[in-house]
Amino acid sequence: MERIYFTTPIYYVNAEPHLGHTYTTVIADTLKRYYQALGYEVFFLTGTDEHGDKIAQAAQASATDPKTYVDRISGIFRSTWDRCGIAYDHFIRTTDPYHKEYVQRILRKIYDAGDVYFGEYGGFYCYGCERFYTERELVDGKCPDHQTAPDYISEKNYFFRMAKYQERLIDEMKSRPDIIRPERYRAEVLAFLREPLEDLCISRPTTRLQWGIPLPFDSNYVTYVWFDALLNYVSALEYRGGDSLVKFWPGTNHLIAKDILKTHAIYWPTMLMAAGMPLYQHLNVHGYWVMDSGKMSKSLGNVIRPLEMKERFGMDAFRYFLLREMAFGQDAKFSVEALVTRINADLANNLGNLVSRVLAMQQKYFAGEVQPLSAAWAAEDMELRDKFAQAERELHSYMAELQFHRALEAVWSALDHANRYVVQTAPFTLIKDPAKQPRVGAVLHHLLEVIRTLARLLAPFLPDTAKELRALLGLADDGGSINAPWGQGFTPGHKINAPKVLFPRIESEPKK
Ligand SMILES: [Zn+2]
Repeated sequence: MERIYFTTPIYYVNAEPHLGHTYTTVIADTLKRYYQALGYEVFFLTGTDEHGDKIAQAAQASATDPKTYVDRISGIFRSTWDRCGIAYDHFIRTTDPYHKEYVQRILRKIYDAGDVYFGEYGGFYCYGCERFYTERELVDGKCPDHQTAPDYISEKNYFFRMAKYQERLIDEMKSRPDIIRPERYRAEVLAFLREPLEDLCISRPTTRLQWGIPLPFDSNYVTYVWFDALLNYVSALEYRGGDSLVKFWPGTNHLIAKDILKTHAIYWPTMLMAAGMPLYQHLNVHGYWVMDSGKMSKSLGNVIRPLEMKERFGMDAFRYFLLREMAFGQDAKFSVEALVTRINADLANNLGNLVSRVLAMQQKYFAGEVQPLSAAWAAEDMELRDKFAQAERELHSYMAELQFHRALEAVWSALDHANRYVVQTAPFTLIKDPAKQPRVGAVLHHLLEVIRTLARLLAPFLPDTAKELRALLGLADDGGSINAPWGQGFTPGHKINAPKVLFPRIESEPKK
């Protein structure tokens, strides 16, 4: 059996779930469902990143201890994904004991192998924040919180010999053209690797930071960010036991936004090399959601929360928008107006109308009973079937490239064709002539095959809708009849249920 492993980043618990988190998690969920339907054994990991000085400070600011603080925010992430119907297999927390133990084991291993050394670390330090800032984080050379210039200080720390692995990393990146997708992110990484790599500082002294995993070879230090966070992708599989690691690691597909490209394309593979593990199969990188109303921020009140979107529009409609609007790898714009336009045009009109029209005619003309197909199919019947077969082929090739928007476009192109078929065959006119009744029955039978095909093709993208379609068609959830070839999904006499509104049209809201 073929296997594949999808991961989202572990989300840092200094903020609650928003649009960016939701997009990565929804595509992981879609991919899981898609590959499962193809017969793969799939493992889907998500979770939360919970150590570091920002968390210790946030806990202090809310007058609580770090553990209570991370328990609360991590719980919000988990319950959000649960309520959004995200089918993850394991939710990892970097404060989980098995993870801490694993991180220490790997650190010990690479320390013993000579890939960790003690050295001098220098950087811009703000005494008010009690932390180092990178030059990029400073605003006009000042701490963004305190508006004061930080001091350049240096302290003793542990370093990972990352530079040692530079040549091997370049070779891997060059010899595997699809290791990072889309291609331009690999080009970006290779350009970065033209400059010499520096070693990576991987510790903080406990005099400054206690909220971390202690180094196994020096209890005066905790590990800083990289080993703590990135090793989650392996520790979770180890923890699941059995042969999970052996089974799933070769098919590892990380899903990330482009802001963490460097950590996943440079730090992470060199860490894997040092740990003696093969690299991931693919690093899949998506762009940013850009808000029409400016940068998403709490103060502007334009933060998109997944549960609010679900309440207002339904989870499937929200998923549809995310998957249809963004070309994977590029930035996309988010606005509620654009979301409403897509729901009305694609879901309420195109998909919703077709389904309710067909099921209404099936009820009205044949009391819901499926009629036989004629022995000889009309040219337009075969054209309709072929159009969906073509859409399915296109869907598979786009999904292999993570082009979710093109995959959906292909299905909607077939859906347009089905709507034209209704107009062309005009069953609502034919039914007035009793002699034409068998043809009307056959036309509706083909249209039920359209809906059955949609229920199958859309299941990874719109799982609730697909389930609803199967229920309307009176098909069991066991997946049996859903996969039958065109024309063999229904036996004549099978009862179809009465239509219902799948996606109500959203009237535009009055401007405030
Ligand atoms: Zn400061």
